[in-house]
Amino acid sequence: MAAPPLERLSTSLGVDGVVRLSANENPLGPSPRVVAAITREATRAHLYPDGGSQVLREALATRLGVTADALVVGNGADELISLIALAAFDPGDEVVVPEPSFEPYVISTTLAGAVVVASPLAGYETDLDDVRRRVTARTKAVFLCTPHNPASTIIRRRPLQDFLDALGADSPLVVLDEAYHDFADDPQSPDGVALLARYSRLLVLRTFSKIAALAGLRIGYAVGRPETIERLNRVRAPYNVNRLAQAAAVAALEDPDHLERARCLVLEERAFLSAELTRRGFSFPPSQANFLLVRVPDAEAARTRLERAGLLVRDGVAVGFPGHLRISIGTRAANERLLRALEA
Ligand code: PMP
Repeated sequence: MAAPPLERLSTSLGVDGVVRLSANENPLGPSPRVVAAITREATRAHLYPDGGSQVLREALATRLGVTADALVVGNGADELISLIALAAFDPGDEVVVPEPSFEPYVISTTLAGAVVVASPLAGYETDLDDVRRRVTARTKAVFLCTPHNPASTIIRRRPLQDFLDALGADSPLVVLDEAYHDFADDPQSPDGVALLARYSRLLVLRTFSKIAALAGLRIGYAVGRPETIERLNRVRAPYNVNRLAQAAAVAALEDPDHLERARCLVLEERAFLSAELTRRGFSFPPSQANFLLVRVPDAEAARTRLERAGLLVRDGVAVGFPGHLRISIGTRAANERLLRALEA
């Protein structure tokens, strides 16, 4: 369920300066060049957007080393998850989904009438052996997420390739959700786009919501074989991505320094918050994302206490990890405020 509007929360909580650390947003905010691009584009709001997101796909194609017909842009990666289900899943099909994981995989699969086959995580890690065992002739697709939301862990490159090799030539579609890809600094973190040349049934999801700080504009993309992309194009609305979002995404790609600043901020603050929480006796899997999944004795009480201090975090119970809080990495000021509120 969608959270109440952030703008109203300060009033309803009676706290100034409410900080949302519950939605894995980017603490830096968008590039000034993005803001300028949106402002320029606003005067053209009466014109329909480019239905094929052509300019953006060309810019992404250059950056990723793929062709533009290997890309489809969506109204957030969320829309692309829905489109995958709409385009590819029929009633009775099986879809293997790690459990827990990002909720829309299950929702979209179920809405398409397909059957979710849950593969439990091994602790905080995706268990590829278990996923593999659950793939049958009825399996239409497999969803994988790296870094994983909410567990914050990655699937390592080598085991991922072994898994894809084992699926062989008549592999089901493998959706690799890399929404948090840019925050991974483990050298074993995979690059889904680089794997596309070898694995024709792979479809990679990325988003401008996280690294580029455009969550409020709703824009993400899928990269895959042109045949797969064409199937998604057939089921999407003709103007699925608005004009401001397309202009903003192009401008974001033109400001790689800003993307790098966001990455550095998150990596630096992730290390700071991880060290400070460890020092205070908290445990959590080492994060490769822009959030931590922290084990806490009474998560609901801790969440309420933080909320009263104006800090919104996600109760793990809502994302399949009872006894945990999922806390987005904030600015240094927000992280220090969080540490103080946890101590209080
Ligand atoms: N995949 C994962 C794993 C996510 O956590 C999110 C956003 N929370 C998305 C996809 C969707 O991203 P977008 O904002 O582009 O819809």
